[in-house]
Amino acid sequence: MRIKFYTIKKKTLCLVFAVLLGLSTVISMAVIKTSSMPKPEYTIVIDAGHGGKDGGAVGKTSGVTENELNLLYAETLKDLCERYGFGVVMTRNDLNGLYSPLASNKKRSDMEARQKIIEDSDADLVISVHMNAFPLASSRGAHVFYGLGNESGKELAQSIQTFLYESFEYAKSLPNEGDFFILNCTPLPGALVEFGFLSNPEEEQLLLTESYRKDMCYAVLCGILQFFEM
Ligand SMILES: [Zn+2]
Repeated sequence: MRIKFYTIKKKTLCLVFAVLLGLSTVISMAVIKTSSMPKPEYTIVIDAGHGGKDGGAVGKTSGVTENELNLLYAETLKDLCERYGFGVVMTRNDLNGLYSPLASNKKRSDMEARQKIIEDSDADLVISVHMNAFPLASSRGAHVFYGLGNESGKELAQSIQTFLYESFEYAKSLPNEGDFFILNCTPLPGALVEFGFLSNPEEEQLLLTESYRKDMCYAVLCGILQFFEM
């Protein structure tokens, strides 16, 4: 009886020891991983356009709002960028707008909050995520914009547009200069990506699929990598 008790105790001890050893290995690996992780060389602000009261464009057949879809695309792009070692600062992580509830001009308050995030981010570039819409339902294709007179933004937008053009049938071949607050509020290179038209039912269905979203975000990442000559 005493032997049996001793045996069980020994087994239990072995088990506890094994668990502790395993835990300490995991912890030390985590410590090594954390301490050896380099500080990101580049940081990107990813801005999901619209939010809160401002839902943006609405899907013709699904009723999806641009607000929802922009956030999904921004999150997918964030995951990809982080996997490639970029630091990422998001302007929003939920469906709310960034405006103060007391602001009389909610749009201005929202945009100023985004500008503040960009200014405080110490980032190297800005990507603003949007979905397009147009009265003519046949309009479709991804289109990239850069800020007024922003030469490095133009280079970035061109790089992203080229990857989109090479991967997606209806994507435009050239980016355009655009008068967008999010691009003009900062001297940083910035690109506003209109991923597609929610007013085109076929494109709307594609934009809603996970695989299309991942492929599009991957093309944007490739454009960013090329811009940084990585
Ligand atoms: Zn938009």
